[in-house]
Amino acid sequence: MTALDDNIAKLEGHLGRFRETGIRNRIGGEDSGGSGGTFQTRSPVDRSVICDVAHGTAADIDAAATAAHEAFAGWRDMPALERKKILIRVAEGIEARSEEIALCECWDTGQAYKFMSKAALRGAENFRYFADQVVQARDGQHLKSPTLMNITTRVPIGPVGVITPWNTPFMLSTWKIAPALAAGCTVVHKPAEASPLTARLLVEIAEEAGLPPGVLNTVNGFGEDAGKALCEHPKIKAIAFVGESRTGSLITKQGADTLKRNHLELGGKNPVIVFDDADLDRALDAVIFMIYSINGERCTSSSRLLVQDSIRAEFEARLIERVDKIRVGHPLDPATEIGPLVTEEHFNKVTSYFDTAREDGATVAAGGETVGEEGYFVRPTLFTDASNDMRIAQEEIFGPVLTSIPFSIEDEALQIANDIPYGLTGYVWTNDLTRALRFTDRLDAGMIWVNSENVRHLPTPFGGVKASGIGRDGGDWSFDFYMEQKHIGFATGQHRITRLGAG
Ligand code: NAD
Repeated sequence: MTALDDNIAKLEGHLGRFRETGIRNRIGGEDSGGSGGTFQTRSPVDRSVICDVAHGTAADIDAAATAAHEAFAGWRDMPALERKKILIRVAEGIEARSEEIALCECWDTGQAYKFMSKAALRGAENFRYFADQVVQARDGQHLKSPTLMNITTRVPIGPVGVITPWNTPFMLSTWKIAPALAAGCTVVHKPAEASPLTARLLVEIAEEAGLPPGVLNTVNGFGEDAGKALCEHPKIKAIAFVGESRTGSLITKQGADTLKRNHLELGGKNPVIVFDDADLDRALDAVIFMIYSINGERCTSSSRLLVQDSIRAEFEARLIERVDKIRVGHPLDPATEIGPLVTEEHFNKVTSYFDTAREDGATVAAGGETVGEEGYFVRPTLFTDASNDMRIAQEEIFGPVLTSIPFSIEDEALQIANDIPYGLTGYVWTNDLTRALRFTDRLDAGMIWVNSENVRHLPTPFGGVKASGIGRDGGDWSFDFYMEQKHIGFATGQHRITRLGAG
């Protein structure tokens, strides 16, 4: 038996129950069907139906928001150490079922097992990290004035909505849900319609860990009905959203009437800038990793390579050689580096850029073709001879597709890097420290790495500028979003109160 056969057999064991009952919504600790009936989720590997999924609509969101509202006071007031213990047990539950989570995620989304096995464990890490912050999350400051002892304290904002996309959905969901629960909020989660499997596993694990009913509720469905209703619901105090920039703008509009607080993590078209003085071997590894891992379906991917003229020919030649050798295959094969793209719609979008590149006058230097007939497989692709005004340089393709753009001097690199509506991440490769300081200071991005690929450190702020988002996650920034700051002033003596109407 090969490792692939073994993984397929294990997956079959996990999918049996989903095939039997479908994926139901979980509201107030109970399973329920969707008031819109059901829809089907399919595997991008061979387009086969995985199972039925409850199609939640406004009525289900209302039930879930009510359950979250009713559970809020109990969860908020539970002693911090008890909440902490439950969150640690959630992390342990994720670790215990990480193989099942990874296998289901691969089959549902097409992501390679090589990366999803780590992503499942990252989900557990998110819970552990925020569990450790539970006790001090409500701490505040003491700001003494001549007449008052002023203190600040933080309180959880209330029930919140979490709306997640289909790329690494399990890990991304934990990234929002773990700090929300640690803050003392209750949650209604609306996972992406294209990847419902692991959201179901998460709510099961959380309840088994002792999370009280109604603290985490999961409603499946589509953005235009379930997602919209969540944004509009008056009992939901904030929306943590991860997805496309144009959806982020809808989230803001939909929440306007209820004055919703929104945290938006949106798209990117991130530059990696390689100067000729860099460690080119390491730069090459990082450039390849940051666009071709996770199928390139990654908001932080470096999808624009800005390479200095003097090293361009050699760097691109080495790039082509490596890209041509990347292994495309079944996502459950541990040797696979790129699996199929998530849906037919997304596959059509990504492959349409192969023609766009040629029409715009770029060169398809590697890939640019589909693989097989059964699923949504594409070859990793590299476009060269591109300029920054081309669509392949300006639009988020969100697949294993890299656009290489040459530059000659530092100012030109900066101008190209910033000439884009997005500003999520940037990657700078140079051994000139002063240049790195100068360049990162002027680069429009929420997160920048110098001589490194993206290495997430949970206490650091995560988020973008421009069309890439509003707000930050990570460390205490997460609590700023899920909590309200309160100021309370205590008089320390009999200070003079201005008297009106006293003659
Ligand atoms: P999407 O915006 O289409 O969908 C994301 C979620 O929003 C889904 O659950 C969807 O059902 C829901 N939704 C859609 N319309 C809605 C509406 N009107 N109201 C409420 N909810 C609605 O995004 P996608 O295609 O699933 O994901 C890919 C995108 O996510 C890419 O643009 C990627 O860059 C972005 N992303 C960003 C980050 C980040 O941290 N900045 C991380 C991961 C993904």
